[in-house]
Parts: sequence; structure tokens; C-alpha cells
Amino acid sequence: MTLADQTSQAGQDARQITTHRPVDGEPVGRYPVADAAEVATAVAGARDGARWWREQGPAGRRAYLLRWKSRIALRARELADLIAAETGKPADDALLEVMLTLGHLDWAAKNAARVLRRRRVRAGLINYNQHATVGYEPYGVVGVIGPWNYPLYTPMGSISYALAAGNAVVFKPSELTPGPAVWLAERWQEAVGHDVLVAVTGDGATGAALVAADVDKVAFTGSTATAKKVMAAAAERLVPIVAECGGKDALLVAADADLDAAADFVVFGAMGNAGQTCVGVERVYVVEAVRDDLVARVVERAQRLRTSGPDAQYGPMTLPAQADVVRRHVEDAVRSGTAVLGGPESIHGRVVGPVVVTDVDERSLAVRHETFGPLVVINSVASLDEAVERANATPYGLGAAVFTKDARAASAAADALRAGVVTVNSVLGFAAVAALPFGGVKESGFGRIHGADGLREFSTVKSVARQTRKAALNLLTMDRTEKDMHLVARMIPLLHGRSKGTRG
Ligand code: NAD
Repeated sequence: MTLADQTSQAGQDARQITTHRPVDGEPVGRYPVADAAEVATAVAGARDGARWWREQGPAGRRAYLLRWKSRIALRARELADLIAAETGKPADDALLEVMLTLGHLDWAAKNAARVLRRRRVRAGLINYNQHATVGYEPYGVVGVIGPWNYPLYTPMGSISYALAAGNAVVFKPSELTPGPAVWLAERWQEAVGHDVLVAVTGDGATGAALVAADVDKVAFTGSTATAKKVMAAAAERLVPIVAECGGKDALLVAADADLDAAADFVVFGAMGNAGQTCVGVERVYVVEAVRDDLVARVVERAQRLRTSGPDAQYGPMTLPAQADVVRRHVEDAVRSGTAVLGGPESIHGRVVGPVVVTDVDERSLAVRHETFGPLVVINSVASLDEAVERANATPYGLGAAVFTKDARAASAAADALRAGVVTVNSVLGFAAVAALPFGGVKESGFGRIHGADGLREFSTVKSVARQTRKAALNLLTMDRTEKDMHLVARMIPLLHGRSKGTRG
């Protein structure tokens, strides 16, 4: 059953979506389902907005973005409650999501002018008469398509940086969590006005209409399967995309690791947000010598987790069908492995208790495919090298974590891991560091949000070469002389003939 089918069962008619609290099924809000014509109108409005936004210049944009940030911050609790209502996550988790998001917005607003200002590059000796500069310009209108698991932090990783880089944004949130998108756009209208940030609500068809509309770039966050469709559709108009997709992150534990810290982070990374985190910990590879100690510590912590009631530490699955995926993965994992905490019986409808399974066949679903639930597989390995090899052996490459006290071993592992982000002695430690770019490799996607690279991701590059004087040896003319070409022939071996200093 597709997400669209489920949503329609959960109360969506052709023109409206009703969102529901995963915790008790109570309705939260009703939102229109924008069709292709409405999406096109929104994009046309944003095109006008983009013109106005560009005219504000870097300083004007910074001031407006900080004003918007302040509007959001002053009502942070309200936004967090909305996120919690639609996702089912605890209100405190939602509040942390708001704080993380504002940190990025602040960084993007304050650093865009510096990162994107036109800069001089060396033209080289031969081109001494060229003044060479590189500048960054906005694309125009960026279509942002978001998922439901972090309905604020994740899309705002694109939105903040796209806006700061001078673009207008049309944001299509997940059909499960349109609330924060509409709320953000309302705060934008209060703080800034102009259609620079526009929310269009709807389902996958609305997302597809946004990709097909007159946007200049698409920033997609969601599953790898949908990213492939988005990329194929964007290819029709040769529109570039950023794809932030799924993951199967591994956490590697060396024999010298602080096992209490590692176990704490395993439980936080695997079970936090009910495991519905693209960079959540889904696999652990621990060196055999400390395997039993680590497993005992993980189980001790995970079994204390509260998963229901007002003080639940994580909520029910946001997407009803995700519980079925988790069930398939757990059942497959226990076929070869040993359930040391929970098992298929931990799944009670949308509420899934923590599940820890050890010694699972590397070919099983729970090792190869994204589970997106509170299940963690712990397998032992002979060495950190073997851990890296296994971590790399999936089609995904989003994040990875290494636990060791040996800085050299950590840095060797970080170099060898095929992932977009590696954390050492923590998980998710990068998420609040706005200067660090974020994104994946392989089927986890491409392109980067956050940091200077995130600002450049939403910019087109324009090079300018200004001739400052006539060249002594002028080769850019139809009137080159034989003497000029004789000189060129002598220069080539002089300039490029020696291999000294070059590799290979
Ligand atoms: P999804 O792929 O089902 O949907 C994502 C968005 O795409 C939704 O807004 C949906 O309406 C829209 N969509 C669906 N079909 C479309 C189409 N044909 N054209 C355009 N848009 C379309 O993903 P999801 O279930 O909402 O999110 C969970 C996934 O997102 C997980 O795989 C998770 O790992 C991933 N994720 C990745 C990151 C990251 O930064 N790498 C962050 C959060 C979530």
C-alpha cells in the first residue's frame, strides 16, 4: 500500500488532507491538496517573490531572515506542539528539532554574504592580463519536497540555505505533516511578506507537479525510491536536484572504546524518534573481545525505555505501514540471529518496543535495507577494519559512527567509510554544527545541504574574466602570426614538459 493509499484511508479526499495524531488518531488539521494548476500558480508567485528577494541584496536578506527566525523562536513551543501532534514524537523532541533548525537558519542568514561574495582567483602567469573572479547567484525558484520524520529540521536544511542564497522557495511538505510548513509560511508573511516562501500542501502527485512546474532546482528529502522518480522527472527539463535519501547507518565499536558511551549512543541513535531517523543507528559492528559487554549495556539501557504514556521517550510509528516494514525486518533478523531484547511480539500496532538482535545474517533485510524503526542489529567482527568493510557493504552511504579512544584508528576508519558524514565517539553530533555540510553517497543521495557547501548548492556559479590590458602574446585573435605560434610551440614543453612535482 502506498503512502497516498494510506493517507486516503486515513481521511484524505481528492481535495483535502486531514492529519491525525499517531498517538490517539485524533484529527489535527485539514489542508488542501494542490493540483498541478495551483502548484503552477504558486511557482509563478514565487518567481515574482524571487525578483523582489534578489533586489534586497545580501544585507537585506540577512535582516529579513533573522526577523523570520525571531518570529519562529518566539512561538517555538506552538510549532513544537504541532510537530509532535502530527508525527507522534514527544513534545520535548519536537522542541529540540525547533532549536536545531533555528541554529541552521541563523548560520545561513549570517554567513551567506561571506560565503557567496564574488572572489578573485589566480589567473596564472600566462594570463597575467586577466582579472578572474567567481561569483554565486541564486537559481531563482527552488522546489523543496520534504519527508515526515523531521518535518521541520529536514526541509529547513534546504529552505534556510536556499533562501539565504537568494532564492524563493515553494515547499511541498509530506502529506503526513503539512502543519509546520503552513505555519512557517504564515510566520514568513508576518515577518517579511512577499511570496518568497510559499507552502503548497498535498500528496505525491502535488510533489510531482512541483517537479514538473517552472522551478529552477529541486531539493528532495525522502526515500531513495521516490528520489529516483523525482530525478527522472526533473531530467525532462534538465533541472538539477539535491537528493537526501535513506540510510542504513552503522556504528563501529573498537576494543578500546568507552562502552558506556557507545551503548548510550547506540540506544539514542537506534531508538530515538522510534528509529525514524535517516541517520539513525541500524547496525552495530563490535569487536569480538567487547561484544558481550556492549550487548549487556545496550540491553540494560534499551529495556528501560518508556514507549507509551505521557512520559514516553519515543512515540508510535508516524507512518502506519512502517510498523509492517519493521515487523518483516524483525522476523527476518530473528530467523538467523538471537533476539536479546524484544522481538516480533514488541510490535503492538503502531507502537513498537525496542528490539535488539545479535549475530544476524549479513544478507538479511535488517542488515541490508532501511528499517526505520526501533530495531538494532549487533554483529561482532574480528577488527575495526572488518567493521568498516561490513559497514560499507550496503547500497546506502549516509552516516556512520566510530567508537575508539585511538585517534589514528578513528581517522583511518573515517577515511575508509563510504558515507557522507562520520561521527567519532558520538552519533548525530554533526546535526547541530551548521558549518558542516550534510548529505550522502551511493543510494543515500547526492548534493549537500548545510554549511558553505549548502549555500553553494543553491547557487549557480558565474565566472568573470576581465581583460585588464592587451596581452604581449595575443592568441585570441584571427590575426595570429607565425612568430606567435612558433613561441607557443616552444612554450608547451617549457610549461608542461617536466613531470617533476606531479604524481603518476
Ligand atoms: P517518501 O519518499 O515517501 O516521500 C517524501 C516526499 O516526496 C513526500 O513529501 C511525498 O509526498 C513526496 N512524493 C511522493 N511521490 C512523489 C513524486 N512522484 N514526485 C515528487 N514528490 C513525491 O519519503 P517519506 O516516507 O516521507 O520519508 C522517509 C524517508 O526519508 C526515509 O527513507 C528517510 O531515510 C528519508 N530521509 C532522509 C533524510 C536525509 O536528509 N537524507 C532526512 C529525513 C528522511
